[in-house]
Amino acid sequence: MIDIKSNLTQVQQRIDDAVKRSHRDSRDISLIAVSKTQSVDAIRTAYAAGQRHFAENYLQHALDKMQQIHEPGLVWHFIGAIQSNKTRAITEHFDWVHSVDRLKIAQRLAEQRPAHLPPLNVCLQINISNEASKSGLTLEQLPEIAVAVNQLPHIRLRGLMAIPAHTTDTHLQRQYFRQMRQALEQLKAQGLALDTLSMGMSNDLEAAIAEGATMLRIGTAIFGPRLKT
Ligand SMILES: *Cc1c(COP(=O)(O)O)cnc(C)c1O
Repeated sequence: MIDIKSNLTQVQQRIDDAVKRSHRDSRDISLIAVSKTQSVDAIRTAYAAGQRHFAENYLQHALDKMQQIHEPGLVWHFIGAIQSNKTRAITEHFDWVHSVDRLKIAQRLAEQRPAHLPPLNVCLQINISNEASKSGLTLEQLPEIAVAVNQLPHIRLRGLMAIPAHTTDTHLQRQYFRQMRQALEQLKAQGLALDTLSMGMSNDLEAAIAEGATMLRIGTAIFGPRLKT
C-alpha cells in the first residue's frame, strides 16, 4: 500500500532539509503534486493531507478528474505537451501552464482565456539538456520569445520550466538547474518581472532547491509508481 500522507510528509522533510542547507526560505517554494495517471481518490487523499497544487500532463484525464473533484482551494497546473487544438480547454480549466514552448501556443492561450478568469500563469519550457526527444525552447530562442509572450494580454509570464535529462550525478543536475537560474536572471535584467523557476522532480529536488527552484513538480515520491494509462 502506498501511504500518500506519509510520502507527503517525507517529501516535505526533504524540502525542509534542502532549504536549510541552501539558506533559503521555505515560503518561496511550492510543492506541486504531479497526479498524472493517479486516481481521483489519490488526489483526495493528498488534499486531505493539506496538498493544494496538482499537476496533470494529459488533458482529457485532467478534465475527467476535475469534474469529480470540487474541493475548495485547489490549484491546477498543466505540465504536458500542448497541441494547438487543446489550448482552449487548457486555458479554460487551468490556473498555470508550465509547458509553453512556442509563441503560437501562448497566443492561443491568451486569446482563448475566459474574460471572467484572472490571467493564466505561464512558464516557458526550456530544453535545457538539448535532448532531441524533449520539447522546449533552446536558450538561444528564449529571449525573443519571452519578450513577445510577456506582452500578451490575459496571460502572465511567470518564469521558466525544465525537465533536464535524467541523471543521478548531482553535479550535473545542479549544472542544468544553474543554467535555468542564469537564464531567468538575464530575462529579469532585461526588465521582465519574473518570479518562477519550475524545476525539480522526485530524484533531483535537492539540486533544484540549491539552484533556486520556486516550484517543485513531484510525482512518484508522493503517489508511488505511475499507473498504466
Ligand atoms: C511526471 C512529471 C513530473 C514528476 O516526475 P517524478 O519523477 O514522478 O517526480 C514532473 N514534471 C513533469 C513535466 C512530468 O511529466
